[in-house]
Amino acid sequence: MAKLIFLGTAASIPSKDRDNTSFLFLHRKEMFLIDCPGAIHQKLLKAGINFKDIKNIVITHQHPDHFYGIIGLIHAQGYLSKKLAIFSNQTTILLLKELIRKVGLNRYPFPRLTFHDVFKRKFFYSSSSLKLVAVRNKHIRNSFGVKFIFDGKTLLYSSDTALSKTILKEAKEAQYLIHDCTASSSYFKEYPQLYKMHTDAKTLASILKNIPLKKIIPIHFLLLKKGELRKIKKELTPLGKKIYFPSDFSILTLS
Ligand SMILES: [Zn+2]
Ligand SMILES: [Zn+2]
Repeated sequence: MAKLIFLGTAASIPSKDRDNTSFLFLHRKEMFLIDCPGAIHQKLLKAGINFKDIKNIVITHQHPDHFYGIIGLIHAQGYLSKKLAIFSNQTTILLLKELIRKVGLNRYPFPRLTFHDVFKRKFFYSSSSLKLVAVRNKHIRNSFGVKFIFDGKTLLYSSDTALSKTILKEAKEAQYLIHDCTASSSYFKEYPQLYKMHTDAKTLASILKNIPLKKIIPIHFLLLKKGELRKIKKELTPLGKKIYFPSDFSILTLS
């Protein structure tokens, strides 16, 4: 049994009730923080998680809404946590190393930071009960999603992405999918540049309708227009009970 705690569900621009997308994946004694926007420390407190217990972070790409909280978290963990492993692509790793050096956090003895290139091996993390795989998506250079393999089940978090052949192939083999659902189809029509990097609710519903997933979790909502959330939900109705619509601090058990 694994558990997801959603810490944020909005796109790059948060709304009053939703912050930038990030979540915790918990399985037995293992815990991963997936993407790390701002005020993460306080969000963890609200979720009842000790920030010192965050030892593994995955950053899916180098857009600020997915990593800008990590400096604050490392600062808070200074002297209090022993180790922090950061899993990402080379571009993000270099960027983070530079940021850490520029703000002087490299002079702290703790937490001892290790950086892991997710594309270097088949499983970028592997234990007896959990394996993590990076899956290339359709967003920006070297961006990726994460496949979690546990208890004979698979959860795919495709991160920010348009629907691609690779993502669809992986989704067909998974039981659970957390997928980009940035806005409604009418919003995408107004801002067509979004098509290249993100997914609209209508396309998501029509393409995933015939895939035998147990749960589909839309995320990364851009709610700049009045009524946008309602529009998104309406466009997702063809997916019926398979949809789990998360709020910030929602908890979902994957059994
Ligand atoms: Zn994003
Ligand atoms: Zn992005």
